Amino acid sequence: LREIDHLTALMSRLPGLGPRSAKRAVLHLIKKRDGALRPLIDALAKVADAITPCHVCGNIDTTDPCGICREAASGSGRRDPTLVCVVEDVADLWALERAGTWRGVYHVLGGRLSALEGIRPEDLAIEGLVRRVQDGTIREVVLALNATLEGQTTAHVLADRLAPFGVALTQLAYGVPVGGELDYLDEGTLTQALKARRPL
Ligand SMILES: [Zn+2]
Repeated sequence: LREIDHLTALMSRLPGLGPRSAKRAVLHLIKKRDGALRPLIDALAKVADAITPCHVCGNIDTTDPCGICREAASGSGRRDPTLVCVVEDVADLWALERAGTWRGVYHVLGGRLSALEGIRPEDLAIEGLVRRVQDGTIREVVLALNATLEGQTTAHVLADRLAPFGVALTQLAYGVPVGGELDYLDEGTLTQALKARRPL
């Protein structure tokens, strides 16, 4: 059936779904027309209509600027607009918000530099970050990029780009995860943890 092939092809392009699991999902949706398919259509339509990227930070929300940027701009003191945490994707922002300890704002790059995938600096929201720093109200930029080669390459490029503005640049510490046992850590993590040791 052409309609089903088309839907399966669309679904198989979603992250984490290959052709086989896409076909299974499509069959499930067809069998559960009222219980799964129609609610999914409604939810997708609502998201398509209501969700918008924040032009300040790149977060997604039902408002632009997003709730985080608006809270910071409100002057309530609950969020400090002079502290910016740079993340690769909105999913990373959500992870940090779940942790609930960051009281600054964010900047979502929309990915990381990758020679392999052909992702260049101009493909990321780097100039937007430079403009925010140029405005002069930001005191500290925390680079919370992934501890991968590509994440670290991106961090170095950002550091070079932001160096002329004299803003404080920091990055997340790497080391022993909470609940982690030394015996199970790889050499790279142990080396980083030793380098990042601090007084008790
Ligand atoms: Zn925002």
